[in-house]
Amino acid sequence: MGCISYVNGRYLPHRRALVHVEDRGYQFADGVYEVFAVANGHPVDEAEHLQRLERSLGALQIAWPMAPAALQLVMREVISRNRIDRFGILYLQVTRGVAARNHAFPRAARSSLVITARRLPPPEPAAARLGVRVITLPDQRWKRCDIKSIGLAANVLGKQAALDAGASEAWMVDDAGLITEGTTSNAWIVTKGGELITRQPDAAILSGITRHAVLALAREHAVRFVERPFSVGEAKAAAEAFLTSTTALVKPVVAIDGTPVGSGGVGPFTERLLDLYLQHLNQAGS
Ligand code: PMP
Repeated sequence: MGCISYVNGRYLPHRRALVHVEDRGYQFADGVYEVFAVANGHPVDEAEHLQRLERSLGALQIAWPMAPAALQLVMREVISRNRIDRFGILYLQVTRGVAARNHAFPRAARSSLVITARRLPPPEPAAARLGVRVITLPDQRWKRCDIKSIGLAANVLGKQAALDAGASEAWMVDDAGLITEGTTSNAWIVTKGGELITRQPDAAILSGITRHAVLALAREHAVRFVERPFSVGEAKAAAEAFLTSTTALVKPVVAIDGTPVGSGGVGPFTERLLDLYLQHLNQAGS
């Protein structure tokens, strides 16, 4: 059985899940999105994702496509129709709707809602522990990266540049030489003194839900951390580095621009935070 997707009120086979060419998401990237992990059949950190969706919608003055409680029911229906009883990913997108092309907000359009989901094998701790390489690149994005906008051309270019360089992610660097975040993830380092550092959630980064969960775990387990920007030089001189996202979890970074980080392997802080995060995932729905 193929995937079932939700498009503006209908559950459709994925190949027939289509939106109109004049949807403002297609015309202007005038929309926002969320990606949820699904564990044990339940959206992980659902309240946090919905809060971020509310902030993104508010910042772009886009109306909720339906009440949040109804949206949660539709999400559950998509999870169930795709038989995600263990692990998977749910993608949700809201745009300003369909209207004749004109930059100004349309008067009458209703927000569009698309939800897709797919089953995935549950994360394997051994595979999750495999380190990745990152490159650094100038951050070319707009000044509201805190909004989870579907306008991702700069992120797409950065990710492809990383892949072309034999790496998995690009860490973007602002005009002051400080790392903002990855193209699809938040950036972290652990100093040689054992301090965990990640940039504060300002307009230069997306406030990641995984980032938030990892900080809560660090607090709970008395791991010392500070939220501040760090430079490319500091990152290359760090004892450990890792990235976080809903899909990558807590991913060790073993090299930056070809320079090995620390021992070039997976460090103890990263390993501990990954283990704690995997436990957090497995607690979803309990
Ligand atoms: N930054 C960017 C630019 C991202 O695209 C993502 C992934 N959505 C993240 C950070 C991590 O966010 P989260 O932990 O909520 O997946």
